[in-house]
Amino acid sequence: MRLALLSYVVAILAVLGMVPTPAAAQAGLTGSALTTCALRDRPGLSPRQVFAASRGFVCPADQRRLGPGSYWIRSAPLRRSAPVAVRSASLWQGVVTLYALYADGRIVPTVIDQQAASRHVQLGAILEIALPQRPAPLVRLLWHVDHAANLRGIVRDPTLATPTQSIDSNLLMGGMYAAFAGLCIALLCYNFALWVALRHPFQLAYCAMVTGLLAYTVTSSGWIAWLYPLIANNDRIRANYLLLGLSTIAAFQFARTFFEARVFAGTIGRLVTLTCAITAAASLGFCLFAPLNVWLFDRFYSLAFALQMAMVVPLLWRAWVLRSNYLWVFALAWASPIVMASFRIASSLGMIGWNFWLDNSTIMTMTIEALLSSIAIAYRMRLLSNERDEAREREIAARLLADTDPLTGLLNRRAFLHNAIGRSGEQILMIADLDHFKQVNETIGHDGGDEVLRVFARTLRQAVPPEALVARIGGEEFAIVVPAESVVDPDDILTGLRAGRMPYDVTVTASIGMCSGPLERETDWKALYACADRALFEAKSAGRDRARSRDLPDSAHGRPAPTLAVRSR
Ligand code: GH3
Ligand code: MG
Ligand code: MG
Repeated sequence: MRLALLSYVVAILAVLGMVPTPAAAQAGLTGSALTTCALRDRPGLSPRQVFAASRGFVCPADQRRLGPGSYWIRSAPLRRSAPVAVRSASLWQGVVTLYALYADGRIVPTVIDQQAASRHVQLGAILEIALPQRPAPLVRLLWHVDHAANLRGIVRDPTLATPTQSIDSNLLMGGMYAAFAGLCIALLCYNFALWVALRHPFQLAYCAMVTGLLAYTVTSSGWIAWLYPLIANNDRIRANYLLLGLSTIAAFQFARTFFEARVFAGTIGRLVTLTCAITAAASLGFCLFAPLNVWLFDRFYSLAFALQMAMVVPLLWRAWVLRSNYLWVFALAWASPIVMASFRIASSLGMIGWNFWLDNSTIMTMTIEALLSSIAIAYRMRLLSNERDEAREREIAARLLADTDPLTGLLNRRAFLHNAIGRSGEQILMIADLDHFKQVNETIGHDGGDEVLRVFARTLRQAVPPEALVARIGGEEFAIVVPAESVVDPDDILTGLRAGRMPYDVTVTASIGMCSGPLERETDWKALYACADRALFEAKSAGRDRARSRDLPDSAHGRPAPTLAVRSR
């Protein structure tokens, strides 16, 4: 119980760690970091005044403490002559103006509105402004941020990078995203192909999750701004929130269809559905209405995420209690996103330092998850195919048992009729009945009688062609059906029986009645059986231990009966 509680706490912490970074920027990969201080904006302040101001600035480690609003963010003094670009994390914000102050006193402004932000986005959702190179060196930077939401900071992780550093960063990030996208496409193709072949719903859910993650990567990497430079940066972030939300819903749907139905049965299944509905509402809500109150919709979204992740532990706990076959592979696959998210919360709490790769862990941990999930899916399919093979074997065994007479191993009456009626063409029906079997039983006992029945069954099977249907249709009454063109001689059966080794060497004989005709319908069977039974009666009346043949009456036949070569005694 204590362990469950502990894992629950870890999961919640993990969620909190994941929450602040759906579209979070991943700046700072390259270049030299800039230290900055913030000044709350007030009417009448000019950039030159702010550059020169010596009081009023605050320099918190975490700008979020300052809350939303319009701000001036000023870098520490610097000195750069070579071409340089200013990089910072792309954030939800209004218009940002970057002022570059040069040693000759010139201030060069760059206005970054929503569209300009998209044009400046680099891979990793990093905003990069290349500064004009002037004869005088660059000595300070100042941002004016209009209506900062300040959900993750006002100007986050600013750096100064050379053009080479910028290219290197794009190459590295591009490689990372391309690897992830390639993996997603491969997973998508093979899971969809498997779904077409096997139709397990979890494969479709997995495809939906991977598609969501792929689209999420296109938006969160900033690549979408390269494809559609006219997209507003905040719209990119809105799409990003929506896609991450939908991907997690698909992940839950995957879990629901991946585990045995009992794991999601009852209240827990309904709670998961509710949580997913809340996530869908929060994602859509942010996507549609974030400009009205970004802080509110961001919190709602984060809460929905926290709820979703809070569901994970009771779900895994339930899977454990119900002895799910898939718990361990599933938990293994999802452990890395949860562990990395825990590190991220530790980082945002200041327990461990900030790390670029930690900040990029969503994609990396989802890569691990996707690969391990493939193993989980393969394992799931193996168990499924084992189950299917066992079910098929059980079905075959059950059918054999249901069709077979347990004493003799021949077909029973039901299976015999099922197989005999409906045969096309002329058929021969023989009914063989042991003579004075009651006396046989009285002489050698019931068990001895059973053994006689077994010996007779073997004799019958050996005396008729392989395609013949042979059945025990009553106590000591047997039936044989063969196509009319087959060569069968009832006397062979009688001779075989006489030669058979019987218990206590008792002498056993049989009588056979035969008749031929069509056997396509139930009525044909009745007529043919009545005819063969009459022939059997004649054989018994004539002294037993012999065969008799009769023709079908014309009314039952409709066609002339073939002449059967039967020797009778
Ligand atoms: P008939 O020559 O006129 O056919 O005489 P019969 O004694 O063989 O015929 P009857 O129908 O009077 O008796 C059939 C006997 O077969 C009665 C029953 O005890 C016996 N019998 C039926 N099923 C089994 C069985 O499974 N095992 C054994 N040992 N005897 C059985
Ligand atoms: Mg009998
Ligand atoms: Mg009988």
